[in-house]
Amino acid sequence: KTPVPSDIEISQSCILKPIDQVAKEVGLLPDEVELYGQTKAKVHLSALKRLKNQPDGKYIVVTGITPTPLGEGKSTTTVGLVQALGAHLHQNVFACVRQPSQGPTFGIKGGAAGGGYCQVIPMEEFNLHLTGDIHAITAANNLVAAAIDTRIFHELTQTDQALYDRLVPSVNGVRKFSGIQIRRLQKLGINKTDPMALTKEEVSLFVRLDIDPGTITWQRVLDTNDRFLRKITIGQSPTEKGFSRTAQFDITVSSEIMAVLALSDGLDDMKKRLGRMVVASSKRGEPVTTDDLGVTGALAVLMKDAVKPNLMQTLEGTPVFVHAGPFANIAHGNSSVLADKIALKLVGEEGFVVTEAGFGADIGMEKFFNIKCRYSGLRPHVVVLVATVRALKMHGGGPAVTAGVPLPKEYMEENLQLLAKGCSNLNKQIQNARMFGVPVVVAVNAFKTDTKAELALVVQLAKEAGAFDAVECTHWAEGGKGAVALAQAVQRASQTPSNFTFLYNVELPVIDKIRLIAQQIYGASDIELLPEAQEKVTLYTKQGFGNLPICMAKTHLSLSHDPEKKGAPTGFVLPIRDIRASVGAGFLYPLVGTMTTMPGLPTRPCFYDIDLDPVSGEINGLF
Ligand code: ADP
Repeated sequence: KTPVPSDIEISQSCILKPIDQVAKEVGLLPDEVELYGQTKAKVHLSALKRLKNQPDGKYIVVTGITPTPLGEGKSTTTVGLVQALGAHLHQNVFACVRQPSQGPTFGIKGGAAGGGYCQVIPMEEFNLHLTGDIHAITAANNLVAAAIDTRIFHELTQTDQALYDRLVPSVNGVRKFSGIQIRRLQKLGINKTDPMALTKEEVSLFVRLDIDPGTITWQRVLDTNDRFLRKITIGQSPTEKGFSRTAQFDITVSSEIMAVLALSDGLDDMKKRLGRMVVASSKRGEPVTTDDLGVTGALAVLMKDAVKPNLMQTLEGTPVFVHAGPFANIAHGNSSVLADKIALKLVGEEGFVVTEAGFGADIGMEKFFNIKCRYSGLRPHVVVLVATVRALKMHGGGPAVTAGVPLPKEYMEENLQLLAKGCSNLNKQIQNARMFGVPVVVAVNAFKTDTKAELALVVQLAKEAGAFDAVECTHWAEGGKGAVALAQAVQRASQTPSNFTFLYNVELPVIDKIRLIAQQIYGASDIELLPEAQEKVTLYTKQGFGNLPICMAKTHLSLSHDPEKKGAPTGFVLPIRDIRASVGAGFLYPLVGTMTTMPGLPTRPCFYDIDLDPVSGEINGLF
């Protein structure tokens, strides 16, 4: 057999359909499609309105076992499955995937367009700027950050009247409130529309957000792995008159605006969520929102194009939506509700939409069900759980798997004992999916070092653990052809009734919701709230946010909080260090152990290998 060429070689060697042809094939009208060159297009939300009476297709979510740091092929399998369903079994299909962050692309993990003969193409477009959505989020996020510190500064240095004169200026002798200012007055219980009618006390209340700098939870963001921005001091120029504080940068994909983009179901909904985001508390202990800062409209303007899903294609010409890209460990890890909704309409009742949830089933899938499906109202028909022999051997006690280091010999030769032991993780993740009442099909993603007996053992143990079916797949090396058996199993599973249920009722107290996830999904014996987390439970409950769903920020490398604990650990106490609120996106996120929201670069980052040929203009080394 000839070896499989590199991802970028495969991507660059294939013939692309013009994207307007793909749009036509899936039934989009010309005025619903905005071309960004020949290979990418944005799709207008008007398509959803036009198709609103069309029944939805089958909704399939791809998740995985607890991975090694290399990834076990969820993206590759998502693409392989749609290639099999679409190009080989001739079904209407759509894949819905996240846009990758440029942090990992230039850092450790590299690109995320799938791999081998299952990719979203052109992979360099997919992995780099795409249509600028992540840049729009960076711009919007940092506008909020600038608004916060500047507002504090102005309030510190001006009298009530001076602030009022600037916030509600007199134009030709007439003062007028803007729409966003009228909303603020209503929130304060001041039912006046004439700016001259406010009392002194009302003016003071109106002009002073009185942000307590110690409570600011809004951070600046950048889509680069830059560890030196994890803690910074801002306001060091003498022009800021000594108003200086420590702050931090997070990676853009962890911005609440990314989560808002992913969870919105229309422009109006996005605007509401953008205005509801809580950035700090006032000195009186009340939540201060983006709407209070007056920035909602501007954020909506910055995000107006980002809200439209991006249409691309797979190597076998099937359609793909690439839209939104929150990380799964520090955010909710799922692509956009809007892309899934439009795709479900476009494929029609008999078609299939395959959407991917980040990292293992304990992370991305749990959040897919309890957060994304709760907000979208969509109900999945099948869970596809990706497993690999190498990750299962690691769970069985095999040596550490490290990016950039050759795999130890345990992974290169048959070892059924290690594998069988590691299937404890597969078993637990199958139970996790079944807990939601949805049938599970296990996709055993075959690597060339796997033996027949090893692959057969995983299939057998998956079935014994209660999977609807388990199938060996070779799509990475063979394209859609290698996932036909998987596609047929998914078709069969989608015919069975699914009895979907949420894991928890959002009305439960915050602590109970966290404990339920920890015990049922992770296998913890209990949770332990550190003092800061305890304080936040009290604060958020008092501020009226206690009934939001939970988005756990936890390592993806273990079912527990400790990345070293492999397999299916039990009996551990899960430490909750702190809790944050993403009120606009609509969840509370507990920080489990130490989770960084700004990754760093390794000694030899991926960027060492990335280059541009100045003659052909070709990009090399983006694997
Ligand atoms: P995930 O989405 O689970 O993180 P990916 O689909 O991105 O995983 O795959 C991780 C890496 O492993 C990619 O570089 C991909 O090309 C590679 N890969 C996936 N499946 C296989 C396979 N069967 N054989 C060899 N390499 C694979």
